[in-house]
Amino acid sequence: MSLKDHLLARIALEGPMRLDDYMQSCLLHPDWGYYTTRAPFGPEGDFITAPEISQMFGELVGLSLAQSWLDQGAPSPFTLAELGPGRGTLVADALRACARVPGFLTAAQVTLVEASPALRDVQRETLQGHEVTWLESIADLPDTPLYLIANEFFDALPIRQFIRQGAGWAERRVGTAEGALVFGLAPVAPQPALAHRLEDTKDGDLVELCAPASEIMQEIGRRIAVHGGAALIVDYGDWRALGDTLQALENHAPVDPLANPGRADLTAHVDFEALALACPCSYSRVVTQGVFLERLGVTARAQKLAEPLTGDTLNNHIAAHRRLTHPAEMGNLFKVMGLYQKGQTPPPGTEV
Ligand code: SAH
Repeated sequence: MSLKDHLLARIALEGPMRLDDYMQSCLLHPDWGYYTTRAPFGPEGDFITAPEISQMFGELVGLSLAQSWLDQGAPSPFTLAELGPGRGTLVADALRACARVPGFLTAAQVTLVEASPALRDVQRETLQGHEVTWLESIADLPDTPLYLIANEFFDALPIRQFIRQGAGWAERRVGTAEGALVFGLAPVAPQPALAHRLEDTKDGDLVELCAPASEIMQEIGRRIAVHGGAALIVDYGDWRALGDTLQALENHAPVDPLANPGRADLTAHVDFEALALACPCSYSRVVTQGVFLERLGVTARAQKLAEPLTGDTLNNHIAAHRRLTHPAEMGNLFKVMGLYQKGQTPPPGTEV
């Protein structure tokens, strides 16, 4: 049996399913889910993320959080957390760079929130020699100051999609036709959570809603407001999203999101306005990844790392720097938002 057969049978029994249900099954189904059964990152996988492109990304993100920690009086102990750490590369690079910050590693309790048992195993391997705690949910984080990074985490959370009709909304659902999965629409209904989108949309516009993202932001923001700390949210998306951003990637190429459930990565753009609206602590302006990394000195770091390199290794290193920062590559598409406690300064690289 495949996930597709399972979903076809389920829809035959229960009727069309919501898109967030479909996404959740595709990504995290215990037997057939994309993250639960695959190690999708890197050149042989389906996509490549910033920490896998260059060590500079994790180093600079780590140092930004370490500077916030210093600015806030170096509290000890504190939680250094990552949401959805993938292969664990970012946190490994961050810990190596932050070893230069006196007292940081001794005070840090490294905590990873990861839903996939298969990826936890990969992370354990990458982080050998470090003391690490894994959690199912951020609700289980200890009540200490929180320094947190989430890179390409929010885009993996399940979304719902609604098409405006008058003052109501028709929700997009996944149904079946002739043995295939197809999109359909539920009857038009009011959606209180989309009341503010009646201002900026017209009939036929598609709007996305990610309830888990708002819940997680509430929890992170509450913890930073109460216990102190800072967070960096890095993802593709923009302020106030409009239109269909659901995307499926298999072998680095876009595919139909309904064609191969569980075999392709499914993501949606992150609506940073929705994150900000849900956040109980202070948040920075949204800045592009390119500007964020330049502010943190990525070019000086790249030059230093280039010194001993020649030939292909040097060319790859130059390409990686370009890929992370150039506006035509990840530089503009990816955005960064910093979270911080009221009265403190935002994490370096972001600004009020
Ligand atoms: N941050 C990593 C990986 C991004 S992919 C990088 O930059 O390389 C998304 C990650 O989030 C994966 O590790 C995936 O297993 C995890 N994930 C997805 N949904 C999750 C959830 N609901 N709770 C916890 N982790 C989740």
